[in-house]
Amino acid sequence: MFNVQLAKEHIDVAVVGGGPVGSFAALHLAKLRTNVMVFEEHETVGVPSHCAGHLSILSLRNLGLHQLPSSMVENIFSQANFYSPAGFKFSVKLAKPVTCAVNREAFDKYVASMAEAAGARYSLNSRVESLLMDGGAVRGVNVTRGSVLEMVPAKIVIDAEGISSRLLRQAGLAGFNGDGLVYGVEAEVENVRDLELDAVEVFLGKAYAPGFYAWLIPRRDGTAKVGLAAKRGNPKMFLRRLIHRHPVASEKLRNARIQRITFHPITLGGPIPKAYADGFMVVGDAASQVKPTTGGGVIFGLACARIAAEVAHDAIRRGDVSSASLQLYQKRFTEALGFDFHVMLWARRFLDSISDEKLDSLLRFYTWIGLDKTLANVEDIDFQGKLLLRILNKPAMFAALVYLLRIYLSANP
Ligand SMILES: Cc1cc2nc3c(=O)[nH]c(=O)nc-3n(C[C@H](O)[C@H](O)[C@H](O)COP(=O)(O)OP(=O)(O)OC[C@H]3O[C@@H](n4cnc5c(N)ncnc54)[C@H](O)[C@@H]3O)c2cc1C
Repeated sequence: MFNVQLAKEHIDVAVVGGGPVGSFAALHLAKLRTNVMVFEEHETVGVPSHCAGHLSILSLRNLGLHQLPSSMVENIFSQANFYSPAGFKFSVKLAKPVTCAVNREAFDKYVASMAEAAGARYSLNSRVESLLMDGGAVRGVNVTRGSVLEMVPAKIVIDAEGISSRLLRQAGLAGFNGDGLVYGVEAEVENVRDLELDAVEVFLGKAYAPGFYAWLIPRRDGTAKVGLAAKRGNPKMFLRRLIHRHPVASEKLRNARIQRITFHPITLGGPIPKAYADGFMVVGDAASQVKPTTGGGVIFGLACARIAAEVAHDAIRRGDVSSASLQLYQKRFTEALGFDFHVMLWARRFLDSISDEKLDSLLRFYTWIGLDKTLANVEDIDFQGKLLLRILNKPAMFAALVYLLRIYLSANP
């Protein structure tokens, strides 16, 4: 039985979820002097963590997060090694470090502390059960704290619940494209052999990670994060197969000890078609703002959260939080990311459609034409559509694309 109460405090924006995306929305709302409260169901921000925390340094800088405490940054990388299922290695050495691995628990706490310092308030141990509705419009949230159910009115609710969001359906919005769902496993391991400390390792192929890929991300202390996602089958079984049977990964991981293992789904189907309603906006994984190629959702989620905060602030200032007013959010994030999403969705479809043998010949061809040299000066790994346009005039990139199209057309006549 719940003791039902009406909240006494006044809130302009209720953010549901204290993950990085919810906290980043709260940070920008607080900076704009909007009264914002974040509801997080756990007693601490950042736990449990399920993520590899592999992020682009340039994108962090563009989001104003370039001064992360060094204790949170586990490593930086200037190389990526891609392996075919047969073990062929296509290696790209970059001119300078382009990505980093962060401790996700520490990262989430850091973004939340920035939001709090800017004036956002946090209500922990507070689960949003449902939306307060009035004639089809969202007017706040129903929150449980222990045995108390509190009705909290708010002018706008920002849904940052992550992939398991149920609120968007109550607001009348469609969920993410289920065809794009993969099931991830992430393990922290010690006792790894032959770690290349400045390289992220990517293992491609249906035999080890059908519908996605597997990764090995070394930490400076000699431990590593190993993981994969799969569209079908048991991800733990695929991880075992990677560790014991992959021609390259098994050499490194055969004697590794797993210290911690987590499971979590990833949505690769592109953003939900509509991420706003009357008094309501959806950000981050809840809106499937995740890169369909790599499954990275932090950077795009943060970018969208910043836009959502600006649009929400402006709507409240004008006194119009209707769906017609909030649709500017969708327009702005589609302008910023729409092209990249289209290109990455195509790339995901391509990768899913080709056989492991074709993947092997693709990596061999890329090495033969020297594509690694063309990619050596790449700084941005997030905006992959715009990146493609920038380097398409390079002969090796053009040849790579033609070869890729030939394979695609032969696999999809
Ligand atoms: C195995 C794996 C590896 C990944 N690796 C990377 C990577 O290397 N790089 C990258 O960019 N991305 C990666 N991702 C994706 C990344 O983890 C997500 O995109 C990111 O966490 C999305 O942030 P978010 O704030 O939208 O959601 P979340 O991080 O899921 O946060 C949602 C928060 O909302 C809270 N919550 C949920 N419902 C409620 C409720 N009703 N009431 C109150 N609180 C609620 C939750 O407790 C949680 O704290 C990975 C994902 C997986 C599964």
